[in-house]
Amino acid sequence: MSRQISSLLAIAAVCVTLAPAPAFAQTPKKAPVDCAEVKCLALTFDDGPGQYAGTLLDTLKKYDAKATFFLEGQYVNSRPAFVKRMAAEGHELGNHSYSHPDFTKSEAATIRTEIQKTQDAVKKAAGVEPKLLRPPYGLADLQVSEIAASFDMPMILWTAGSEDWKTKNVEAIQKKTLEVAQPNGIILMHDWVKQTVDGMPSLIKTLQKKGYHLVTVSEVLKGENANLQPGDTFPVPAGWER
Ligand SMILES: [Zn+2]
Repeated sequence: MSRQISSLLAIAAVCVTLAPAPAFAQTPKKAPVDCAEVKCLALTFDDGPGQYAGTLLDTLKKYDAKATFFLEGQYVNSRPAFVKRMAAEGHELGNHSYSHPDFTKSEAATIRTEIQKTQDAVKKAAGVEPKLLRPPYGLADLQVSEIAASFDMPMILWTAGSEDWKTKNVEAIQKKTLEVAQPNGIILMHDWVKQTVDGMPSLIKTLQKKGYHLVTVSEVLKGENANLQPGDTFPVPAGWER
């Protein structure tokens, strides 16, 4: 580089340093949350996008909360706009099969097709491919694990459920979730349960008041230093060996 250009660059650098920050640059760029240091919680929504996903996304945006959606391919295809919005708004997308069969009772070819069709549907809707698999009902065996590995995906279960699909009651869902919330927990919920979505604003407010940062599953995995390999399961179910 010529000396002249170097000094011009040096001057430019000084000018940049001295220039006052423009008025529009007031929103500070948020520092990433470190879940090894702060209290994090991952809310996960299965079987969607459900019919209330739009309202849920509005709420998550309002409270600056991130979530993880384990999507069912058939609904990705029928409600692609929600999936596109999920990705655009910083949520994590996971694969939850195409039509929700029990993988432990399925042929290998069926499992592969179920996973691949959902990868394709999400890619088409949002331009990204899921990197996490949650098998339907959280059920997996060695065959499922091997197939997950061939897709380069670990399997993500949950530390606790909100039992929203069972109670379908706003207060019960909130109570259960607050009861089972723990640092770096992964909570199972559903965006097709209206009461879950209805109760979300006050649930998020309470969780945030308790110091929780609502983050994606991948952020929790980083905080746990989980270092999952394809085919691994997290959290490891009781009685399993890793
Ligand atoms: Zn499910």
